[in-house]
Amino acid sequence: MRVGIIGLGLIGGSLGLDLRRLGDRVWGVSRSRATCELAVQMGAVDYAEPELEHISDLVHTDLIVICTPIAQVLPVLQKLSKYIQPPTLVTDVASVKGAIVPSAQAIYPHFVGSHPMAGTAGQGITAAESGLFQERVCVVCEGEIADTVAQFWQRLGMKVVRCSPTEHDRAVAWISHLPVMVSASLIRSVSQASDPQILRLAHQLASSGFRDTSRVGGGNPELGTLMAEYNTTPLLTALQTYQQALAQVIDLIQNHQWRELYEYLATARDDRSLFDICRE
Ligand code: NAP
Repeated sequence: MRVGIIGLGLIGGSLGLDLRRLGDRVWGVSRSRATCELAVQMGAVDYAEPELEHISDLVHTDLIVICTPIAQVLPVLQKLSKYIQPPTLVTDVASVKGAIVPSAQAIYPHFVGSHPMAGTAGQGITAAESGLFQERVCVVCEGEIADTVAQFWQRLGMKVVRCSPTEHDRAVAWISHLPVMVSASLIRSVSQASDPQILRLAHQLASSGFRDTSRVGGGNPELGTLMAEYNTTPLLTALQTYQQALAQVIDLIQNHQWRELYEYLATARDDRSLFDICRE
């Protein structure tokens, strides 16, 4: 397959590594020349250029994946659409879909929105890793070329789930965007411990539980901010529900309602097993 990747960061770089391992021919475009050079050295792309105009086989590409930050997806597609035409397909990987998919399909009808649900706390091409998408879920939104785009992600070992952009945004507000804000607030709360000696000790004692619960809050701040900016209403609904749940926990503890607290925690344990990833 002939694939183009625009935005060679964590997701775009990781995608290139896997595609080239599968034998695809991959070109890349990224904002900085240093990133383009590093992507070639790492084997994530056959060649890369900061300017789209310098990609020699742009018109012969089967699929182009836009892996830039959320705010750049539509401007990049607008520019790209001047150079390509069907049967070249375009998809993206952005963490929000409602603000992108309808406008993107108006710009270029051979566009289908994707969101591979895979990531790390890293950022940029140096954080790229092979096998990142293996066994993870990828959302593919509806559209006339959705089957081809679904097969593309399945080839990388992903399980595809189809839904509308609105359904996607409401669901990820709960399981992706809420956890980022909760986890960041957890880290910020600990950092406010008033006794510096205790804070130092906490830094030393923190083990796997703190590492797991702080991971997403300690990730890319640009990505977290864009999630909130582009998915505001569903995220606020999730955060307000979380605030009420936390207030309930505080009440139970203040009132020494240990049996009720036990029930609360036991229900949480049972609910956790309903998530596919928690059963693996
Ligand atoms: P990232 O590591 O910051 O990579 C994005 C890269 O895009 C940057 O390294 C930058 O490259 C390049 N870039 C920025 N503006 C550009 C432009 N106008 N044209 C070409 N390249 C441009 O971010 P990421 O985590 O890979 O996220 C990329 C996308 O994946 C986002 O839309 C995000 O919502 C989505 N996503 C992220 C995760 C995650 O967990 N991180 C998971 C799923 C989906 P230079 O180094 O050249 O400046």
